[in-house]
Amino acid sequence: MKVNVKDVRAGKVNRDWLESTILVNEIFEKEPNNSTKLLEPFSIHMELTSVGEDVEVYGDFSAELSFSCDRCLCDASLKLKEKFHYILMPKKESEEELLEDEETELSYFEGDEIDLTELAVEQLMLSIPYKLLCKTGCKGICPKCGTNLNEETCKCSEETEYSFLAKELKKLKNKE
Ligand SMILES: [Zn+2]
Ligand SMILES: [Zn+2]
Repeated sequence: MKVNVKDVRAGKVNRDWLESTILVNEIFEKEPNNSTKLLEPFSIHMELTSVGEDVEVYGDFSAELSFSCDRCLCDASLKLKEKFHYILMPKKESEEELLEDEETELSYFEGDEIDLTELAVEQLMLSIPYKLLCKTGCKGICPKCGTNLNEETCKCSEETEYSFLAKELKKLKNKE
């Protein structure tokens, strides 16, 4: 989805659209051992206003990802819903790329067109949590026997806990 800057200068521009999964899934596929996927085209809304030389963008999106849990490896999905805000400045030739700052969401546009798809994909990638878990507090897999600890408990953990406690008790006894 692209918008001509002239249209924004003429008055507020609203866009609602569904962005295909292709661009986002291409980014995921570049990562080694990736299991994350965008399930369906994701929906985006953006509102663009001209502010002096700049263009102010308010937007939100919702998307759904499928992935393997980082801890227990089971298949899971996650709904993302975020709001975002950009100030886009016209790029001048003298300015360096380094000035770009993701945190304050300052960015540039070049020429007459603003690529809204690029902004939407960037926001989607930024909204993905660093660790993707099937649920909060997922217990993961026992590193010794491979049991999914969300479903059952294995003897390994009991033994380790027991032996740890036993050692501590011994230490205490030796001190007395
Ligand atoms: Zn899990
Ligand atoms: Zn175990």
